Amino acid sequence: MSDGWSNEELKAAVEFYVEMQRKERAGQPIAKKQYYRKLAQRFGRSEKAFEHRMQNISYILSLMGRSWLTGLKPAKNVDADVADQIEKLFTQLDGQKLVAVAAFEIAVREGVRQKTLAKPNGNPSPKARRIAITQFQRDTAVKAWVLRQAGEVCECCEQPAPFNGADGLPYLELHYVRQLAEGGADTVSNAVALCPNCHREIHHGANAQALTAWLYDNVARLLRD
Ligand SMILES: [Zn+2]
Ligand SMILES: [Zn+2]
Repeated sequence: MSDGWSNEELKAAVEFYVEMQRKERAGQPIAKKQYYRKLAQRFGRSEKAFEHRMQNISYILSLMGRSWLTGLKPAKNVDADVADQIEKLFTQLDGQKLVAVAAFEIAVREGVRQKTLAKPNGNPSPKARRIAITQFQRDTAVKAWVLRQAGEVCECCEQPAPFNGADGLPYLELHYVRQLAEGGADTVSNAVALCPNCHREIHHGANAQALTAWLYDNVARLLRD
């Protein structure tokens, strides 16, 4: 993607993206092309450029572990600094402060792709920095109930938990099918117990949406809200 996108352009793209997500959640049809056209007219860029930017947004959301829009397949060619701006726009829009990950992960992937990658020295004493982040207050009873319900089995792959925790219990993690950061509820009808593998995949995997759809279809207590 070429540089030179203003923050205003990125902000407008993110706002439309969120609007499309809201529509998708409500089961309303989304005329994606109309959004691209509006943006193209407003900023004098091609519709195609905005379509691609929207796919970049899907990619950034997948790095953030957030859900992305069906039909807007993540496209990874986005600069780290643009990704950082887009991630910040999301946190501003949500009124939440989350740990920034997109720019770091994009730089990592650029490194992985390089033909020759010198062995780095790293840093024996990495600098720490204090940040303020948003944390949702959750009900322990919801997690306890869901873990009990799942027993020893991941509710996604239906395989036994891969190991026991230090407490001797099968290790499963709680996942909110609609994430709290996206307005999801802290209720048992929005939560599942997953093995760490499925949990990572449902946040970051290419098939994240299919896994979520599978959960809604197969875990009877789940409700779409
Ligand atoms: Zn699993
Ligand atoms: Zn989760």
